[in-house]
Amino acid sequence: MISVEEARERILAFFDRLPAERTALLSALGQVLAEDIVAPFDIPPLDNTAMDGYAVRAADTAGATESSPREIRVTADLAAGYVLDMPVGPGEAVRIMTGAPMPPGSDAVVPFEETDEPLRGVNERPKRGDTVRVMKAAGVSANIRFQGEDVRAGQVVMPAGRVLRASEVGVLASLGLTHAMVYRRPVVAILSTGDEITEPGQPLQPGRIYDANAFAVAALVTKYGGVPRLLGIAHDTIEDLTAKLREGFDADMIVTSAGVSRGDFDVVKDVLAREGAIDFWTVRMRPGKPLAFGAFSAPGGRRVPHLGLPGNPVSSMVSFELFGRPAIFRMLGRSDWERPVVRAISRDEIRNVDGRRFYARCIVSRGEDGRYYADLTGPQGSGILTSMSEANALTVIPEDLAMAHPGDEIDVMMLDWEHAP
Ligand code: AMP
Ligand code: MG
Repeated sequence: MISVEEARERILAFFDRLPAERTALLSALGQVLAEDIVAPFDIPPLDNTAMDGYAVRAADTAGATESSPREIRVTADLAAGYVLDMPVGPGEAVRIMTGAPMPPGSDAVVPFEETDEPLRGVNERPKRGDTVRVMKAAGVSANIRFQGEDVRAGQVVMPAGRVLRASEVGVLASLGLTHAMVYRRPVVAILSTGDEITEPGQPLQPGRIYDANAFAVAALVTKYGGVPRLLGIAHDTIEDLTAKLREGFDADMIVTSAGVSRGDFDVVKDVLAREGAIDFWTVRMRPGKPLAFGAFSAPGGRRVPHLGLPGNPVSSMVSFELFGRPAIFRMLGRSDWERPVVRAISRDEIRNVDGRRFYARCIVSRGEDGRYYADLTGPQGSGILTSMSEANALTVIPEDLAMAHPGDEIDVMMLDWEHAP
């Protein structure tokens, strides 16, 4: 048996970052930048006001208080999106809205709240030629956002290698960009195997079950930034399996489920051995002991990596989390595939019988004392997929720990911080 780490290293050694391509910003979430982004201009492009108020000369407001306001004459109104060339002279103010560029001559903004404007009726707002009373002194630069304070022209705003999150997409858009060079998303072909497996939507014959794995794995592929391609369901015959697998030879990776254990009809391994070079491993983990990994030899000499997941739905999902996700991340150019592992207090007794690492499904939540607690989701059979649905984390019970008692601190691997049922 090999360790989880060794299996993952052997798998990762097979994958490289995919080529970069120009991609529309809205499609690039979670992808990795393949170029440095250099700012073509300053952001903000001009000094502008951070508040609705009056652009003034700060000196004109010196000493202003509620009991001794300063009267200043309003010369113009300025909305965001417009530029005023007329200078603000001594004793003058421009009524100005958030985001509007500072008019020449002004060096501070007095917010409406610090003038008598709110005390007047809606229809008595100061207009051009009126005076406004300033009731608080403004310091030079008050409430101004300065040109280039966020980004300077010529600066590398975002280096190659950065993962695009919502904020990066926003920054790129603020530079006026519509597209970015990012490493391509991997196409992952997914094939379920087994005579008993039926496509959802079809009538269910006695003895058969619906295909859960292809859908769960496809959803994980999407979630982790790949593009799933469902190849359907192959019968447990060498002919059918070979034909269906070949349909996935143009993908960046093929993922199959089932057929890798020791049953009579577990033919996945036979096909793999004929069509490529394959390792079969038993990995020191529970669930998910049997795992196949290798590569098919496709026409043209291309080698198509293959991850053969176990058939039990929980095993298949956990194995994909541990081995498929890092492979997708590597192809995307991401190295942040390590899951956050936190310490939590187990509320259950967890038995770990046979020297494997035990990834039990659990719910991690924060107690009133601010510490994390882990509750098992109930029966841990690897066919019980609802246990995966209830969980937001997996325990990481080490190979050499036979038992965790209630109250013991254990490691838990977070799958989903947002969703704590
Ligand atoms: P196998 O590895 O072929 O022995 O399958 C192990 C278990 O997983 C069996 O109970 C299968 O019926 C079940 N199984 C295999 N493939 C799927 C699938 N796509 N969806 C749901 N269960 C499956
Ligand atoms: Mg089977």
